Amino acid sequence: MAAKNEWAEKDYYADLGLQSSATEAEIKKAYRKLARENHPDSHPGDKVKEERFKQVAEAYDVIGDEAKRKEYDEFRTMLRSGGFGGGFPGGGGFRGADFDLSDLFGHAGMGGQAGGFGNLFGGGFGGGSTSRRSTRPTRGADVETEVTLDFQEAALGTEFPVQLTGDAPCAACHGSGSRTGALSTCGTCHGTGFTNEQRGAFGLSAPCTVCDGTGKTAKDPCQECRARGTVRRSRTITVRIPGGVEDGQKVRLAGKGEAGPHGLPAGDLFVTVHVRPDELFSRNGNDLLVTVPVSFAELALGATISVPTLSGSVKVKIPAGTPSGRVLRVRGRGIAKKGGVVGDLHVTVVVEVPTQLSEQAQATLRSYQEAEAAGGFDPRAKITNAR
Ligand SMILES: [Zn+2]
Ligand SMILES: [Zn+2]
Repeated sequence: MAAKNEWAEKDYYADLGLQSSATEAEIKKAYRKLARENHPDSHPGDKVKEERFKQVAEAYDVIGDEAKRKEYDEFRTMLRSGGFGGGFPGGGGFRGADFDLSDLFGHAGMGGQAGGFGNLFGGGFGGGSTSRRSTRPTRGADVETEVTLDFQEAALGTEFPVQLTGDAPCAACHGSGSRTGALSTCGTCHGTGFTNEQRGAFGLSAPCTVCDGTGKTAKDPCQECRARGTVRRSRTITVRIPGGVEDGQKVRLAGKGEAGPHGLPAGDLFVTVHVRPDELFSRNGNDLLVTVPVSFAELALGATISVPTLSGSVKVKIPAGTPSGRVLRVRGRGIAKKGGVVGDLHVTVVVEVPTQLSEQAQATLRSYQEAEAAGGFDPRAKITNAR
């Protein structure tokens, strides 16, 4: 069989007279027919038929095997899509250019091309984790979770325990994978962190799975974690949500994700925050909004009222003659976001009309009404004069 790095020059489907959409049965049938027709035993000394027989066998070796066919198909797709990017040795493409694809994966070149190769390995090199790994694992997996907070908790900030199951540092070796902490050069990748022909792929260079790309392995492997430095377990971590977080916001907690193998740094934890609405408060950015019922007399005569805030209360002065529905602003009593400007408290004063009045209150109000009219007050002056 041809080395995988020769795949670029091969069309195994055409070799069997098939389309790339051919079914397993069609491939098998075509192979049997062609193998029989060109078998060396039936044509001793016929070099052309012998070559053809080899070609057919090689093609079937790849596309007749489900896993190899998948790899081959992906390889062809990638070639067509230009996934390798520019800059091939030989310039004119693969044909005749005698080089190993692993050259493309030199350490310096990895970063830029990583995206193009990711899907070749179905979900990335890390394997099995929810995170997107770069080509070489440089840290643990990121973890996502969500939480629902009360309005107040979100506004002021809070902390709570969260239970997560995933890779955590091995307690026995403190995450190094080595019982004594002593490390030596990885024998599999010879310290480069990369190996060739990884995971059955075609002559590609991939991060070393023995040392996870660190180039180092334990001198005295820890038995608890099989020298990986991490064990899968449930752990409880304290999540701190900073004050001022808004509904739907994603909070990143650096280093609170899964532990990295071989002592590599941990991934991050992302917490999507949902905020329950509050009966009293709402918010507009960092401004805290509250509606406060007041009496007519308080608005007409002026008053100092006590207004609730997120922490305690604040005295607010209502000037005489304040209309119902006016918004009074209290500077600096809104939401304090870390590194941001502290918001204001916006107090909307709304007249609360009594539904039941005592005899005395009624009599007093009537006499007030008369005094008001005598003074020339017309509550509908604006709309009367507008006509
Ligand atoms: Zn260990
Ligand atoms: Zn290695």
